[in-house]
Amino acid sequence: MDMVCKKETIEREGLIAKYLSRSLDAEAVEEFEAHYLGCDECFDELRVSERLAADLRASSLSWNQTGGVSVLRFRANAELTHSAHELEELRREVLEQRDSRVIIDLSRVTRIDSAGLGQLMSCYSHLVRNQGALKVVNATPEIDKLLKMTGISTLIHSYQDEQEAVTSFNN
Ligand SMILES: [Zn+2]
Repeated sequence: MDMVCKKETIEREGLIAKYLSRSLDAEAVEEFEAHYLGCDECFDELRVSERLAADLRASSLSWNQTGGVSVLRFRANAELTHSAHELEELRREVLEQRDSRVIIDLSRVTRIDSAGLGQLMSCYSHLVRNQGALKVVNATPEIDKLLKMTGISTLIHSYQDEQEAVTSFNN
């Protein structure tokens, strides 16, 4: 089926941006979904935009290496809570990288809830299964207290000094 899209590029891009950010109403979503499934131009454009959006989302975290350990940092203040996109990014970043010795710098994490704690634990389990470990550094006093209260700090050790955390991997 050869179908030429009647939408102008600018209209298509606008529509796709709204679609991906979920700001179309239900009727417009239905209409667009019915359209792009049969339209090669819109379908391709949507795939490209989706990938760009995913890359943008992933950029709220960054990695660096120090002393054979990978340190994961948040580029901006972040919440590790049920609805926060950082939670999904954290999961993806930790599960999809090769190093199993990981430190998460929590200095920019302002809030954490049970979903966030659960995610830290699942990162921890994943790394331990791969003969590694997970440590955290620079947690705020509130978050540090929460890690202790929940007993999580007996598994995921918390440090206030990054060098100390790096060295601890060799003990
Ligand atoms: Zn189209």
